[in-house]
Amino acid sequence: MQYHIITIGCQMNKADSERVAAFLESRNYTYKKDWLGVDLVILTTCGIRQSAEDRVYGLVNQIRKNNPKAAVVITGCLAKREDVMRRLKGRVDLFMPINELPNIFALLKDCRQDGTLSSEEVRALSGEKYLTITPRYESDFSAFVPIGNGCNNFCSYCVVPYARGREVYRPATDIVNEVKALVKRGCKEITLIAQNVNSYKSARTDFPKLLSRLSAIEGQFWIRFSSSHPKDLSDELIKVISSSEKICNHLHVAVQSGDDEILEAMNRKYTAAHFVSLINKIRKAKPGIAITTDAIVGFPGETHKQFLKTAKLFRDLKFDMAYTARYSPRPGTVSWKMKDNVSREDKRTREETLTAILAKTGLAANKAYLKKEITVLAEGKNRKGNYYGKTSSFKTVIFQAPAEMRAEEVVGNFVQVKIKQVHDFGLEGEYVKKRN
Ligand code: SF4
Repeated sequence: MQYHIITIGCQMNKADSERVAAFLESRNYTYKKDWLGVDLVILTTCGIRQSAEDRVYGLVNQIRKNNPKAAVVITGCLAKREDVMRRLKGRVDLFMPINELPNIFALLKDCRQDGTLSSEEVRALSGEKYLTITPRYESDFSAFVPIGNGCNNFCSYCVVPYARGREVYRPATDIVNEVKALVKRGCKEITLIAQNVNSYKSARTDFPKLLSRLSAIEGQFWIRFSSSHPKDLSDELIKVISSSEKICNHLHVAVQSGDDEILEAMNRKYTAAHFVSLINKIRKAKPGIAITTDAIVGFPGETHKQFLKTAKLFRDLKFDMAYTARYSPRPGTVSWKMKDNVSREDKRTREETLTAILAKTGLAANKAYLKKEITVLAEGKNRKGNYYGKTSSFKTVIFQAPAEMRAEEVVGNFVQVKIKQVHDFGLEGEYVKKRN
């Protein structure tokens, strides 16, 4: 039996797909690089933007046309959306919330002996226990480790609490054991993921304590985490971030807007002033830390004056990078019912304004790296024969290495790179040596 899996969207979806792959392979399914002729196609979907949703409709149509016998399963953000179910009726075999993964065969009514779980197995693995499945990691040197699933925050524009349900967290010991095993097999970069890592809680362990336990694991590796909600970013967490050598020199924390009325309408539960003081506090505790953020432009009712507050916040806080998005209403959310009254043209120009500010602040931050020798985790080699990788501060670095070096000597390793050129959103340099 063969399967193919398509992942759309965020790190959480990638981590889910790795667990789906491991689960199917433990049930005698083998992975095929494309979906032609396979028995089962899983789509781990994203509903954050309309474009991501449209991709799913296109893919389902193509799969149905070219491989009509395949069972098609949709998991991820769109798995509970009734309008999507109606639209894809008859073309998708199963809409499966990810925590139902262990029941997949039962749900698909697959009665084959070698693909079916016993009822004990279903009971043992059902619910959020899908997180206990050891994933089939896609990379040997970088892994996403989910520490929980779901969200309690209900930001008014977001589908996640509806798609993934309320927050559920993994026991700290499970997470520590997974990270230990990854480090033992040579993994160099661990990214802890949850919709809001800062509200992690399991028995007496909160997120700062979890980070401390992970930082104490022996070995040469980096720890990243995402996403951080500003309202839950505590002084204790800042203390841990600034004192651990393993925790990367980068924090991603979403601001979304610089205007208090818009933040309230978004149900974000903090003010712009709180966000600014938070970033100042973090920078004071860990000078030089790279800060990246998310922002939405054109939220319902956002006036030009309100947008200018976001632009000012971007100028003042000088982010290293940001993911900006033009607001698009998502069915089932609170803001879906609000009037999407900012024109496409205004959304476009507002996003361009933020991008122009970011280009300046990104370049200014990157200039600090010029002529310096820095550590890079090499991730791969591009078509032009250059290597690429990331710094601890999450900067992308393109670099050349001596022609006689084999790619395996570079990729997947920490290497020292001398920075020769800086750009708005990246760095360029030359390989110096492997880091000891
Ligand atoms: S914190 Fe807000 S934006 Fe993030 S997943 Fe939860 S509801 Fe969505």
